[in-house]
Amino acid sequence: MWVAELRFRIIADTSYTEAEAAIRCYLESLIFQGQILGREFPTYLAQDEFVSRVILPATDALHNQHHSKRGLQALQALGTAGIAYPKLELLGEDLMSNHTDPCAVSESYILYCRFGHSNSVLYCGEHFAPVPLYQADATSALDHEDLIRWQLQYQALDEIQMQEKRVLDKTAEHSLQKLHSSLNQQGRRFARRLEQSLQKPVYYALYSGSSVNCALEANKCCPGCGKGWALAEPLHELFDFQCENCRLVCNIAWQCQ
Ligand SMILES: [Zn+2]
Ligand SMILES: [Zn+2]
Repeated sequence: MWVAELRFRIIADTSYTEAEAAIRCYLESLIFQGQILGREFPTYLAQDEFVSRVILPATDALHNQHHSKRGLQALQALGTAGIAYPKLELLGEDLMSNHTDPCAVSESYILYCRFGHSNSVLYCGEHFAPVPLYQADATSALDHEDLIRWQLQYQALDEIQMQEKRVLDKTAEHSLQKLHSSLNQQGRRFARRLEQSLQKPVYYALYSGSSVNCALEANKCCPGCGKGWALAEPLHELFDFQCENCRLVCNIAWQCQ
């Protein structure tokens, strides 16, 4: 991932409110297309320009061909608000985040979401590295907003269930763990839609959570079809189970490993 600055030069009479709204709208369109990552974008006014600091999944993430319809509209609206098209300045590679997948196309993908990862939830099946969402057709008519909003909810629940003193007892963990929770149902729907758009298998990584009986954990069956799904060798040193039919991957509960 790359740290970059977007420089929005002021080219006409504008107010702070008008300029700020137009920049916010543009940045939002980039978030929901997977072109910038994270949620915090410090923006300041420097003489005749506004400067926003962003994280990009790839150096070409902001090329026009990756913009959603909403992004192109937001870009046009900057002019109306007295702001020029942004100038991109790459500052360097982000040392705190993981590397974007190198493949142009992959043979399979995994939809994988965990707390604390701001990158795309779509991973290459071969390298298990995140694939920028703009490389896949949007799952809704506009962009990937619904998928990114789902990711935020998933991460919020994951963050809760990670805490020792939870504010929700088992509710958060069950949402992540149960195949038929609305969280996982929605997630699998996104995986199916991405599969249609990419024309490649997209597996859904089901969170295993805590186990009630470690003796049975390694022999558990696929919760989708009830068949055996244990892999001879773990996939990406993470997944011990894979069901091709149900498009699911999962692991042995951490406590039992
Ligand atoms: Zn790859
Ligand atoms: Zn299955």
